[in-house]
Amino acid sequence: MPSVFRGTLLNLALQLLHMLFLQQILFGLCAAAGSFLFAKNISQIRRNIFLGRPEDLSDNSGARWRNVLLLALGQKKMFRNPLVAVLHFVIYAGFIIINLEVLEILLDGLLGTHRLFLPYLGDFYTFIINFFEILAMSVWIICAIFLIRRNIIKLKRFASNDLNGWPKSDANYILFTEIILMSLFLLMNSADRALQIQGSEHYHDTGNFILSGMIAPMLSGVSEHSLVLMERSCWWLHILGIFAFLNYLPYSKHLHIVLAFPNAYYANLAGMGKLDNMVNVQNEVKYMMQPELAPTGEAAPQKFGAKDVFDLSWKNLLDAYTCTECGRCTSACPANITGKLLSPRKIMMDTRDRLDAVGKNIKANGSFKDDGKNLFSHITVEELRACTTCNACVQECPVSIRPLDIIIELRRSLIMEDSNAPQEWNMMFSNIENNFAPWKLPPDERDAWTK
Ligand code: SF4
Ligand code: SF4
Repeated sequence: MPSVFRGTLLNLALQLLHMLFLQQILFGLCAAAGSFLFAKNISQIRRNIFLGRPEDLSDNSGARWRNVLLLALGQKKMFRNPLVAVLHFVIYAGFIIINLEVLEILLDGLLGTHRLFLPYLGDFYTFIINFFEILAMSVWIICAIFLIRRNIIKLKRFASNDLNGWPKSDANYILFTEIILMSLFLLMNSADRALQIQGSEHYHDTGNFILSGMIAPMLSGVSEHSLVLMERSCWWLHILGIFAFLNYLPYSKHLHIVLAFPNAYYANLAGMGKLDNMVNVQNEVKYMMQPELAPTGEAAPQKFGAKDVFDLSWKNLLDAYTCTECGRCTSACPANITGKLLSPRKIMMDTRDRLDAVGKNIKANGSFKDDGKNLFSHITVEELRACTTCNACVQECPVSIRPLDIIIELRRSLIMEDSNAPQEWNMMFSNIENNFAPWKLPPDERDAWTK
């Protein structure tokens, strides 16, 4: 075959391929890039979490799965305030369920089809899309209510200084994004339905959609070309918005929609009042009082409590990434309510900020390079001293976080490493050591106060 003819054939084939597959190739590239970046970000977060010290939380898997079902999936703690719980649940369920529709979008994008499931599901397809539309509208309305609650009514726990700057913008960005995604979904269906009514070739009859079916007649005067442009634009923006959202999650408090599940699974199953003993201190006491029970050959303790994220457990660090910044802990904290500086929400946000900084440090240098900072660069002594260890923050947290664990570890470091405690506390410590009680009375006079 002459080479000129061969070249023309090759060109023609390439052009045909180009026309047929350009959209699919573009879509495949976007999907691959979105998934790759998300996986990369999540693996960095996982690496950061496991910078914490080991903690074995693999016991009692039955109780742990129960927590996943009740606390993460069922959002049990949210239902203490039923109205807010229902609104939150609709957003959460709506977001998850509507995204099932993304499965069809993904397959359509990769295979070059349109409404792939329609021929297989028939009337049931119409029913599902109608259900999605009602959910989408509910999510739209509730996001608008939440925006009003945050920005116009300024609910106290959202108007706190803890949220100044990025955290406040983050919450608003997500609510706006959800409104935009839901609007795109409804507009896409409206244009699609209008095209169906016009008898456009590639738009097969789906039956009427409840909500977009009301908008479709308003588009009857719009040309087929403009409607296709509208439908395709909404389709692309909707799926690109979802890929963007996926990659925004690791930088946002909304990462909790993923991490709430492992965090509920690995929640501490011990009663809330139980503080973990410091094993190395316990061993010292055993050496003094019951040497026969003390372990032999134990290495001398290197450190007491926590100064930086490396000294916290991996579960403490998972807690920090799971925090939704809802402020329910701070609203219940007696120290905060009585005007002290302490906010358990801020403790979690500060821990996450420090962990992020350490992660960036490792990424830039290959391994952690001392930056002269630690958790005390974010959290002050005054905040730590204000905690009454009442556990109200732990009780209130809807996603199984224990801010008190971090406070206790930091306070242990302050007192045992830096001897940084107020005089009154030091007196109490020496009384406990000498009199086995916080008071300055010998043990045999402990009931003297009754007289
Ligand atoms: S345990 Fe501490 S931080 Fe938590 S609510 Fe009580 S005082 Fe506040
Ligand atoms: S620790 Fe829990 S209650 Fe407190 S802000 Fe975070 S998610 Fe909300």
